[in-house]
Amino acid sequence: MGHDYTARTRRVRSILSDEGIDALLLSVGADLPYFTGYEALLTERLTMLVLPAEGDASLVVPRLEAPRVAASPDLFQIRAWEETEDPLSLVVQALDGTEVVAVGDQTWSVFLLGLQEALPSTRFTSAAPITQQLRLRKGADEISLLRAAAAATDRVVERLAATMFAGRTERQLAATVAEWALEEGHDTAGFAIVASGPNAASPHHEPTGRIIERGDTVVVDFGGRIGGYCSDTTRTFVVGEPSAEVADAYRVLEEAQRTGVEAVRPGVAASEVDAVTRAIIDRAGLGDLFIHRTGHGIGLEVHEHPYIVAGNELRLEPGMAFSVEPGLYAPGRWGMRIEDIVAVTPDGVERLNQSDRRLYVVE
Ligand code: ZN
Ligand code: ZN
Ligand code: ZN
Repeated sequence: MGHDYTARTRRVRSILSDEGIDALLLSVGADLPYFTGYEALLTERLTMLVLPAEGDASLVVPRLEAPRVAASPDLFQIRAWEETEDPLSLVVQALDGTEVVAVGDQTWSVFLLGLQEALPSTRFTSAAPITQQLRLRKGADEISLLRAAAAATDRVVERLAATMFAGRTERQLAATVAEWALEEGHDTAGFAIVASGPNAASPHHEPTGRIIERGDTVVVDFGGRIGGYCSDTTRTFVVGEPSAEVADAYRVLEEAQRTGVEAVRPGVAASEVDAVTRAIIDRAGLGDLFIHRTGHGIGLEVHEHPYIVAGNELRLEPGMAFSVEPGLYAPGRWGMRIEDIVAVTPDGVERLNQSDRRLYVVE
């Protein structure tokens, strides 16, 4: 299913007009592909969409990267700049006479500082509150890509369940996970956290040369992209039979994760999903081991709005997609996490990840 960039552009233009903003500037990051289908390379060269509330949009792009852009003349004109040209002056010209301009969050500061100097009477404001409103509420086209990406990770989990863990290093296993993520249908493999034994107590552990051994819990958290949309799932493995402490903690974690997912429906505050998840863990006396928020939105970015965290009173709406991923971390000893991506539906929730949530006992 293709994305309707024209409709997205029309919607953002009407928000710009309502808010008295003359133009939107988007550079590196996920807002640009959301509106144009083009993702800028993360380099020092300037790529910038100038989208005025009214009138023609232009995409300022390095000449050597212009062949990567699919021409969409009804959306924007391509303005390719040569190596000897000053690309910022092209943006400055396009912004001539503007009073208020919204700038994407991930624009390099060197470009924003240059624009502020060249246009002293223009006020620059954050584009994030505007672009978020649109990106938060996903269409069926976007949810179906998230669903496909989640299904690909589920197939990797099934293969992992039948894999030998003991004797391999975290790094070797992470490479296998990344390879399988591609084999199972991702366009690109994103990240693979393999955290074993005491390392499992570090939620964003970077895989090392540590050799996985009997008795370890192993947290495997990975994802990739299909059609630009991300997957992100976590399952926990234990090498050999788990200790009673680990087995008991896992039962609490599983109940917390399930309760969190079951709380998801339109009208519920994001903070409430975090609160019900945390309450199960607190009640079991394990609250000190749960050291991060319950989840994050997902889409063109692995982490985006809405954040499932205390204090976020945003009401869930159909089309919002995010992770529910409580974890327990016993410093120096073990860690465990269960992560699924879910989507809010008109009457409740759809789990995009379907793989079993048990504590996987492996060799
Ligand atoms: Zn994470
Ligand atoms: Zn994850
Ligand atoms: Zn996550």
